[in-house]
Amino acid sequence: MNLLLMGLPGAGKGTQAERITQKYDIPHISTGDMFRSAIKEGTRLGKKAKEYMDSGNLVPDEVTIAIVHERLRKDDCKKGFLLDGFPRTVAQAEALEQILVETGRTINFVLNIEVSLEELIARLTGRRICRNCTSTYHVIFNPTNVEGVCNKCGGELYQRDDDNEETVRTRLEVNVNQQQPLLGFYKEKGYLRNIEGSRPIDLVFNEIEDILPIHR
Ligand code: ADP
Ligand code: ADP
Ligand code: ZN
Repeated sequence: MNLLLMGLPGAGKGTQAERITQKYDIPHISTGDMFRSAIKEGTRLGKKAKEYMDSGNLVPDEVTIAIVHERLRKDDCKKGFLLDGFPRTVAQAEALEQILVETGRTINFVLNIEVSLEELIARLTGRRICRNCTSTYHVIFNPTNVEGVCNKCGGELYQRDDDNEETVRTRLEVNVNQQQPLLGFYKEKGYLRNIEGSRPIDLVFNEIEDILPIHR
């Protein structure tokens, strides 16, 4: 199954991706995670991406498309994939169509998680991530059992540099502007499914399970 997860920053893409990829046994491909690990490793890609990410702007299309293209060529994507946070522009969506046509694949569903702007700000500013396994938590909405420690691996939690209120506002503005044409693109193709994302995490996942086929 080939899935795209869309929604503004903080909508819960990463949180739902963890559950979807586990149930359906497909790789979770997050462009944000790929950029963050490139920054951590100090690669050329990381150096290119960092200034855009720190300011809350999008990394240029050509850079982003190239890493996704490379990633989708890997063997583990043969059984399907879940793209999280890509595409974010119509140019990226068109490039993705091209990549999939080349390899004889199509998208099954585009899951668009909808949440109000006010709630997104609260979610992003309280988000905490595990340094070790990238699991995502929230200080109020999804706290760990022990403060600052990952439930799954015992790793240390941190707050992303770009989850401060100023950068959050820029990111929301940038992504709101890109969102409508992108959703239009997928609606026209018949892939788009809107998810009511303001409910608790498990209920959002139930709605996604209702849309996706039962088998893998
Ligand atoms: P995205 O990947 O779309 O940016 P995340 O999955 O990282 O979003 O979620 C953003 C923040 O909101 C995290 O702190 C997460 O724990 C929290 N969160 C995710 N889903 C929900 C939900 N349904 N209700 C409340 N908080 C949520
Ligand atoms: P969120 O969903 O919380 O905004 P991500 O981890 O998906 O966060 O993305 C973090 C940052 O990485 C974005 O603000 C942007 O700078 C960059 N990024 C991620 N995905 C893309 C993309 N598809 N196109 C351009 N930039 C991207
Ligand atoms: Zn962890």
